[in-house]
Amino acid sequence: QAGRRSGTRTMHPLSADTVVISSNENPLGPAQSALTAICSMGVQGGRYHWDEYVKTIDVFNGEFGLKKDYSALFPGSSGPLDLALMSNLGPDKPLVYGDPSYEQGPRAAEVMKAPKYPVPLTATYAHDVKAMLKAHPSPGAYYIVNPNNPTGTITPKEDIVWLVKNKPAGSVVIIDEAYTHFSDNESCIDLVNQDKDVIVMRTFSKIYGMAGLRAGFAVARPDLIERFNNVGGPSQSLASISITSAAAARASLQDKDLVPLRKKINADIRTETVEFLTKNGYKVIPGSQGNMFMVDVKRPGKEFQNAMLKENVAIGRTWSAMPNYVRVTVGTKGEMEKFQTAFVKCMDMPAG
Ligand code: PLP
Repeated sequence: QAGRRSGTRTMHPLSADTVVISSNENPLGPAQSALTAICSMGVQGGRYHWDEYVKTIDVFNGEFGLKKDYSALFPGSSGPLDLALMSNLGPDKPLVYGDPSYEQGPRAAEVMKAPKYPVPLTATYAHDVKAMLKAHPSPGAYYIVNPNNPTGTITPKEDIVWLVKNKPAGSVVIIDEAYTHFSDNESCIDLVNQDKDVIVMRTFSKIYGMAGLRAGFAVARPDLIERFNNVGGPSQSLASISITSAAAARASLQDKDLVPLRKKINADIRTETVEFLTKNGYKVIPGSQGNMFMVDVKRPGKEFQNAMLKENVAIGRTWSAMPNYVRVTVGTKGEMEKFQTAFVKCMDMPAG
């Protein structure tokens, strides 16, 4: 049976037995606790039940000691990330961001006709905050993805704190923590509590396995969240998630075993896969703490991606800063065994 994945990443039809390790999804899907919550909430789906959102926001705020109105719940984090970026960018409000990093930053800058200042990552693949500060005297926003996508690498919290302290007034620092649960990274949510010019993005698409169910948070001072409304568009409807997703997100937050268990599963499989590649002489960008890594395929990555697809393994895309590297998402143990077999086969094939 042919499957069709209609995300922005994989639009072509894939056969049902294809290993999909292309979009940094979680192969484990939603936790059992989340599925149970969805089932019991589903029968109440005939009502708007606004209080369901409030309850989920309360649980989230409780976890981080956030004050009321310092967070907002959305269907996933892409929507609010666009709002966070766009409400702070414009022709005279540039975007400063890491390179390579998640492309949504520069894409939003293009929409807003904001000048773009990509700044290469450091030798350890962290965001180079000193160079980011020097990039422009008065940007609208700095975008930091931590752990970074596609490298999975960490920017030390003290570097972000330094940037927040030294940045020009009037700019904001947007910290995208989509992958933070997989890592030992220290969250920057406490900077929001200190009323800094910081917006932190969180999603349930990654460790919580809810990419298709859609839930995410923007965490910021109320005036920065209020500013999202300046972007225009139907922000009210953008903000409303289904009560089943709200219930699943809440159950996931309350499931205290979920994060440590999945973090370990991901780290073990990632370590095993990276060890296999390294042992066999393939170069992997070191230091990933995410559910992805970058590997050097010694030829244009796009070409290699197509060769892997012929072997029924859908790997991730390339970045122009590293054209011979592809991003690979950590799948299940079985999926990564299939990846290894296909990888070696495709590497043995002559390039071109
Ligand atoms: N931010 C980063 C860094 C991502 O990699 C992704 C998705 O891959 C997102 C945000 C958006 O995820 P979602 O809209 O599913 O929350």
